[in-house]
Amino acid sequence: MTDSSRPGKIVCVGRNYRAHAKELGNDVPAEPLIFLKPPSSVIRTGGTIELPTVSSQVEYEGEIGVVIGSRLTRADESQSKRSIRGIVALNDVTARDLQRSDGQWTRAKGFDTFCPLGSEVPAPADLSSLEVTTRVNGSVRQHASASEMVFAIPMLLAYISSIMTLEPGDLVATGTPAGVGRLEIGDVVEVQVASSLVRNSVAAAG
Ligand code: ZN
Repeated sequence: MTDSSRPGKIVCVGRNYRAHAKELGNDVPAEPLIFLKPPSSVIRTGGTIELPTVSSQVEYEGEIGVVIGSRLTRADESQSKRSIRGIVALNDVTARDLQRSDGQWTRAKGFDTFCPLGSEVPAPADLSSLEVTTRVNGSVRQHASASEMVFAIPMLLAYISSIMTLEPGDLVATGTPAGVGRLEIGDVVEVQVASSLVRNSVAAAG
């Protein structure tokens, strides 16, 4: 996935940090909870997140994004780890009120501009050393380490590959830590993972 291209699919993981599950009143799941975002939701750094008029509670979710480099079908964890091509900063923008009212998450997670992505950077040998930081208007709102995940990255990829083949260029969003919060018109939100940074302003949908 180069900066100008879109991932073939974006597979996301919900409730993968204990403190975040708790802040929304949920338990952590017994196995990974997955959902999809459409590739049409991708924007890059400098793009504008558009708040849809049908929602009054759009929130940021800073996440570690994993870019797949080689095809994975029913892979084990070590194959899964070797298949990683790179890492991106990712913002899983969510209309929290619609997520709650719809029950399933396609609309809440799927609006155009709801998947800001940073540039792809190499993955470290120790994936659990990755950290994610989210800032809104310069102040830190989320900060966590991959070591705090309920399900670690190789396990997530192996699990997803037991359901659907992961293709080169596909993207896996590995869940958001505690500290999610609302985005308002005029905010500037940044997500950083290693040296990948995505920075976006927020505006009303035109
Ligand atoms: Zn998320």
